[in-house]
Amino acid sequence: MTTPAGTPARTADVAVVGAGIIGLATAERLSAQGLSVTVVDGHGPASGATGASGGLVRALDLSTSAALSWAAEGLDRYLRRGPHGLWPEVREHGALTLFGADGAARAEDAAARVRAAGHTADVLDAKEITAAFPGIAPPEDGFGVHEPRAGWLPARAVAEAVLRDADRVTLLAPARALEITTAGSRVTGVRTTAGFVRARAVLLAAGVHSADLARTAGVELRLRTRSVSYCVFAPRTPVTGTLPTVLDTTTGAWLRRWDDGTGILAGAPSTVRDVPPVVTPGVPDAEAERVRGVVRHRCPGLVGAELVGGVTAFDALGPDGGGEVTAWPDPAGLVTATGWNGGGFKKAPAVGRYAAELLREAAS
Ligand SMILES: Cc1cc2nc3c(=O)[nH]c(=O)nc-3n(C[C@H](O)[C@H](O)[C@H](O)COP(=O)(O)OP(=O)(O)OC[C@H]3O[C@@H](n4cnc5c(N)ncnc54)[C@H](O)[C@@H]3O)c2cc1C
Repeated sequence: MTTPAGTPARTADVAVVGAGIIGLATAERLSAQGLSVTVVDGHGPASGATGASGGLVRALDLSTSAALSWAAEGLDRYLRRGPHGLWPEVREHGALTLFGADGAARAEDAAARVRAAGHTADVLDAKEITAAFPGIAPPEDGFGVHEPRAGWLPARAVAEAVLRDADRVTLLAPARALEITTAGSRVTGVRTTAGFVRARAVLLAAGVHSADLARTAGVELRLRTRSVSYCVFAPRTPVTGTLPTVLDTTTGAWLRRWDDGTGILAGAPSTVRDVPPVVTPGVPDAEAERVRGVVRHRCPGLVGAELVGGVTAFDALGPDGGGEVTAWPDPAGLVTATGWNGGGFKKAPAVGRYAAELLREAAS
C-alpha cells in the first residue's frame, strides 16, 4: 500500500474509523489529552450496533476478568456522566444476574469480583429476589447477584453526548473508509470517499467492517457477525414495582423496562452467525415467539404480552468473544478495537481510555 498522491484533504494526529460508541469514546479521550482527531463514518454517529443497543450497563461480566474490569470501569464513568457530567444519567434500576440452584459459589465469586472492582454487589437467594422484585421469577432455589447502582442508558443519546464532549474532534460523515494507507511499515492515514485523512495513527473501530479495512494494511482480523436483536413487549397486566435489568445465566434471557416505563425490552441469545451487517426496525413474529418463550420463565408477566417494537441487528464476534484492542507492530500506528459480541456498550468508556493510550503512543 502507498500514500495517495496529491495534497491531503485533512490532517489529524489520529484518524478514527467508525463513529460507534467505541470509536467515539476513544476520540473523546484523545481529544481530552490535546490530540486532534478526525472520525470518519460511512453513515453517521451510532449508525451501527450502537444505535440498536439495549444499553444495559453493569460491572459484572462473566466472560473474562479483563472484561469485568473494563465493564466496571465503564460503569464508573457512566455513573459520573463523563468528564463534564453531561452524559445522560444511568437509569439506576439495579442489575440482577441470575444463577441456578447450583450457582451459589459462582454468585458469591461474581459478587466478590464486582466488589473488588469498586462497585456494590449483594448475593440474594430466590426468596429475597421474589420479595424485592415481584415481577421476576428466579430459577427455583437459585441465586442472584444484585448490583444496585447498575441499570441502563439510552445508547444513541450517550454516543451523541460523548461526541459533544470531544471538542478537538472533527466528524467526517458520510465518508466511507476505503483503505488504510501506509509508507514502509507505518500507517500514513485513511483514504475515504470524502478525501484523504493524513494521520500518524489510525483506530479501526468499524465493527465487522474492520476486517476488510485491516486487510488493506496487511492485517488479518478474524471477525464474523452474530445476530443480536431485542423485542419490546406490552404486558397484559403491568409489571409493577422495581424491575431491575436482568440477565439470566440459566436461559441467557435479558430484559429491562422499556424507555416509556410500561413496556419491557427483552432478548434471548441467538446462535445465528454471519447475518448481514444491517440494523432493521422490528423483529419477525417467529423471533418474537422464540424470545417470549425464553424470557417468560423469568418474567411471567410476558406470557401473552403483545409485541410492540424491537430491532433486528448484529454485532461483531471475534475469536475470544469478549473484544480485543490491539496495537499492531506492522504497520506501526494501527490500532484495532473490535469483536464485542453483544457487550461493547458497557465496556466502551474503558476500551476508549485504553485504546487512546495506545494511539497516543503510536502517534508520538
Ligand atoms: C440489539 C443489540 C443490543 C445490545 N445490547 C447491549 C447491552 O445491553 N449492553 C452492552 O454492553 N452492549 C450491548 N450491545 C452491544 C453493543 O451495542 C456493541 O458491542 C457496541 O455498540 C459496538 O460498538 P462499535 O463502536 O464497536 O460498533 P458500531 O456501533 O457497529 O460502530 C461501527 C461504525 O463503523 C461505521 N463503519 C463501518 N464501516 C465503515 C467504513 N468502511 N468507513 C467508515 N465507517 C464505517 C459504521 O457506520 C458504524 O457507525 C447490543 C448490541 C445490539 C445489536
